[in-house]
Amino acid sequence: MRVYNTLTKRKEEFIPLEKPLVKMYVCGPTVYDHAHLGHGRTYVAFDLIRRYLEHKNYIVRFVMNFTDIDDKIIDRSKREGIPIEDLTNRYIRSFLEDMEKLKVKGADVYPKVSEHIEDIIHFIDLLIKKGYAYVSRGGVYFHVRKFKDYGKLSNVKLEEKKIHRVRDPDKRDPADFALWKFAKPGEPSWDSPWGRGRPAWHIECSTMAIKYLGECFDIHGGGSDLIFPHHENEIAQSEAYTGKSPWVKYWIHTGFVTVDEEKMSKSLGNYITLKEILRRYDPEVVRLFLLQRHYRSPLEYSEEKLRDTMNTLERLYNTLENIDAILRDGEIKYKLNREDREVHNTITDLWAKFYSAMDDDFNTPEALKCAFEISSCINTYITGSNRPNRSTLLLARDFFMTFGEIFGIFRRYYEGAGEDERFKHLVDILVHIRNKLRRERNYPLADEIREELKKIGIQLEDTPKGTIWKRMM
Ligand code: AMP
Ligand code: ZN
Repeated sequence: MRVYNTLTKRKEEFIPLEKPLVKMYVCGPTVYDHAHLGHGRTYVAFDLIRRYLEHKNYIVRFVMNFTDIDDKIIDRSKREGIPIEDLTNRYIRSFLEDMEKLKVKGADVYPKVSEHIEDIIHFIDLLIKKGYAYVSRGGVYFHVRKFKDYGKLSNVKLEEKKIHRVRDPDKRDPADFALWKFAKPGEPSWDSPWGRGRPAWHIECSTMAIKYLGECFDIHGGGSDLIFPHHENEIAQSEAYTGKSPWVKYWIHTGFVTVDEEKMSKSLGNYITLKEILRRYDPEVVRLFLLQRHYRSPLEYSEEKLRDTMNTLERLYNTLENIDAILRDGEIKYKLNREDREVHNTITDLWAKFYSAMDDDFNTPEALKCAFEISSCINTYITGSNRPNRSTLLLARDFFMTFGEIFGIFRRYYEGAGEDERFKHLVDILVHIRNKLRRERNYPLADEIREELKKIGIQLEDTPKGTIWKRMM
């Protein structure tokens, strides 16, 4: 399996530090508002990565923080006149609710900054002792020039950084960044050896990642806007602190959801919240839409594309239902003729291609193409004149189950598949009675049975091979 590593700027063979364990940290949201589709993209992308690793029998330890101390949070709490904790708890709840709807598997730990102040103070204290940080008028700063590898992730040159930055009398060098900010009136603050204040942004991720995953770990991720300065600064702090390099083996970054080719963001006001989109679309449509582009490419938000995705998902559900209907109603055979063998081989080849695509830096668009091809191949097979072979149908069914598990879709189907056997039996009885009525030319009653079943989501189809029933998804 190969993964694109932002640190080395190339695809690399994925070899975790302590196989089968994969330790993964993803920067969580700043909780001052509802999450939008852009956030959804990033977290669904990492969920797919996590699901695929688990599918490959890795054990994933997954940590994601909540930034619950931040300027935007403080501003918002003042504006709304509610305590910071109430505000952040509200948006943490909202975020977790959205993630649950989107079937994003939960993290093992969700550390909050506000609950790790002591750890952060110890971290900064050691950086000062090691000579990487200094106390100044406005707070404690990281001295970037002391860290020789600065810029290795983002390729940002200190000189260039210097030009773009206004000289700040608090800093030894314009490139230096804050670790601890001294308290301003009306802001939340904590005691520290250097004076009351609060942690700056970057230090939280270094501290909490090391606390929960150890001094070196496998994957660190986030949206590509975090490469500089956030992740660059995280590396500087963490490697200065531990003296070990690389702190993180694979850096993974997602592309943006865009609107008219501009990044979807709160500040530009061009966003659509996940809540709104989930009111209008099934969560699986949203997931499939987000996974249609490769996670590193930009993804343009479009209602038309979402509607197309809705139809695509319905078609896939239909294929699953077609497979099950024919398996259930028995017009199948155990023998393999030439056509069955061909179909069987086609599915096997496409399934292998699906894995190759996923192994190639989680190439979901290529993997999806294979799934669509299997879908149309099996539909043609089922509707053809040849009576389908049972193993071939089961092979296709297995593929869709695997695909659904990795992409986090087909939940309605799994839930349906767990349906009471007696329910299925009851539908079979009704179908049998209806056929009897038809043979006796009692069409009104036969039609009534069909209509009544339709009302509860069961569709009957009279085919040349007999009557089959399907659940309408
Ligand atoms: P924030 O709450 O702004 O810190 O964002 C949380 C995560 O969502 C970060 O990893 C961001 O990079 C990511 N993110 C924010 N906006 C977008 C977007 N338009 N597309 C993809 N990811 C985004
Ligand atoms: Zn972070």
